Parts: sequence; structure tokens; C-alpha cells
Amino acid sequence: MKASAFAYARATSIANALELLAAHGERAKVLSGGQSLMPAMNLRLVSPELIVDISELAELRGIAVKGGVLAVGALTRHVDLLKSPEIATHAPLLTDAVAHVAHPAIRNRGTIGGSLAHADPASELPACMVALGATMIARGHAGERRIAASEFFAGIYETVLSPQELLVAVELPVAPKNSRHFFHEFARRHGDYAIVGLAAQAVVKDARFADLRLGFFAVGDRPLLAESGGKLIDVAITAAVLSEASSSLDDELDPLGDQQATPAMRRHLAKVLLARCVSSLLSRSDLRTGALA
Ligand SMILES: Cc1cc2nc3c(=O)[nH]c(=O)nc-3n(C[C@H](O)[C@H](O)[C@H](O)COP(=O)(O)OP(=O)(O)OC[C@H]3O[C@@H](n4cnc5c(N)ncnc54)[C@H](O)[C@@H]3O)c2cc1C
Repeated sequence: MKASAFAYARATSIANALELLAAHGERAKVLSGGQSLMPAMNLRLVSPELIVDISELAELRGIAVKGGVLAVGALTRHVDLLKSPEIATHAPLLTDAVAHVAHPAIRNRGTIGGSLAHADPASELPACMVALGATMIARGHAGERRIAASEFFAGIYETVLSPQELLVAVELPVAPKNSRHFFHEFARRHGDYAIVGLAAQAVVKDARFADLRLGFFAVGDRPLLAESGGKLIDVAITAAVLSEASSSLDDELDPLGDQQATPAMRRHLAKVLLARCVSSLLSRSDLRTGALA
């Protein structure tokens, strides 16, 4: 199948893109890397009347570190994240995660802004954003607004962006020196969308978690910043403590069933990931299966 007929406009500036979006509203769609939009159009899951191509807007591309904040432009491609020394130093969780996003051909065109605006609940980058405490920067005709990552995702393929807004950048706090991270996903093949995944960021002090942010993906209609992580902060971690956190995680998950896994299997895999995550972050092999006890 091919996309239904549409008009095309190449935006010459952010202001020009916003004018086009304001004029056409829900009938227009922004085009960044096209790696999700074009397949969706070809399958006629979406049929915009106008494509607003922002891919040539250089001001939306790039990575900069300033005052403890890592700013990433929306058009920064997956491959740029993967190769960036700034990301490897200040947000290494993202470096690990983006290696699991699709395949090189898709990573060469797909962008961070496109991935976040697309809001696939099985995507790696949205979960990283909630784990890292990112802020999304959206721009519309009325100006700019800043949205916490935990408030940004509204459901399957849904965000709080209005059709007239552009996601222009993402800001991440620079990881503190004593921070650690964990990323793992279960997928049929490397590069496939995850069956279940976990992106976690922690601060470990005296063999305890001073902070722990658990960003699960493919466990519901949006990335989950699991509150159960709070049960593991500032306490000595034993198998019993981990098991309690694992049980309370069960209440937070709302996984869907599909060809890849039943909801029960996804719940099980999320608990396996929790145990592996805690064991890895604390370098405690005795906890590797603790949450499953
Ligand atoms: C075979 C295949 C496998 C894939 N596997 C994975 C995977 O394992 N994990 C994963 O996370 N992704 C995967 N993807 C998706 C890929 O990562 C896309 O690149 C990404 O989801 C979208 O980025 P894009 O720049 O191509 O966005 P586009 O396709 O251009 O746009 C996606 C959506 O976001 C909107 N949009 C784009 N940019 C903005 C913006 N700045 N502001 C507001 N709205 C915007 C568009 O209107 C559209 O609705 C896969 C894709 C394919 C084709």
C-alpha cells in the first residue's frame, strides 16, 4: 500500500514551520527522519493532508553542555547520540539505550524528537527520558513551554503536544559523578522493539541507593517511572526488601498482550529486569534472582 495524496512543504525556519502548523492544525504532520511517519502513512494509519518537513532546520540539531544541563536538539539523529562523547560522558544511559534502537539505516535518519513525539510505549528513548528526569522543550505560536518527561507521554502514540506545537529540544541533567546506570531489554532480535525493557539511573552511596529512577518500557501505554524504586532508597537491600519492591511493581504495571508476549509474561520479565538491575547497580550477584523469590 502507498500513502494517500498529500501536500508537502519544506519549512525554512522554526517560525515558518509553526505558521504552517497553525494554519493547518490536525491536517498537518511534522516530518523529521520519517522512520515512523512514512511507514504509518504507507499503511494508511495516518493520512495527513500536509507534511511539514523540518529536517533541514539546522538550529534544531546538536548537543551542548551548559551549567549542568545537557541540551539535545530535536533533530539530533540516533546515530549522533550513539557517537557523541558528551552523551557518553554525561548521560551514558542514553548511549547504551540508543544502540538498541532499530538498525543502522534507521538510526542514520531517525531523530530523538521524532522518537519522543511518536511515543511508542515500546521505545527505548522515552523510558530513558523519564529515568533521567528530562525536560521537553515545546514551541508553539504562543511561545515556549517546558514539560517534565513524566508528564509528556499521554498514551499509546500520544503526547501532550498540540498539533500546532513542535518539540524543539530536550534537556537532561548532567549525571552526577557517583551515578550509575543500567539498561537492558528483552527483544526477539537485537534492534527489534522490546518485549519489555528497563532504563535505570541511580546514585549509590555506601552500598545503598541514595537515588534510583526506574524507567520501564513496553509494560503499559506509556513509559513507567516506577514508584516501587522508592522502596529501595536509603535502605539496606536484602532479598526480602527486593522481593517487596518487586511485588509492589506488579501493582504499577499494566502490560498489554500481543503476538510477542502475554501480559503475565511481561510482568514476569519486568521483575527479572528489576532483580538484574539492582544486582548490577550494587554489584551484588546474590540479588540477581532476589525479586523472583
Ligand atoms: C523497521 C523499524 C524498526 C524500528 N525499531 C525501533 C526500535 O527498536 N526502537 C525505537 O525506539 N524505534 C524504532 N523505530 C522507529 C525509529 O526509531 C524512528 O526513527 C523514530 O520513532 C521516529 O523518529 P523520526 O525522526 O524518524 O520521526 P518521524 O517519522 O519523522 O516522525 C514520527 C512522529 O513524530 C512527529 N514528529 C517528528 N518530529 C517532531 C517534532 N520535532 N515535534 C513534534 N512532532 C514531531 C511526526 O509528525 C510523526 O507523528 C523503528 C523503525 C523502523 C522503520
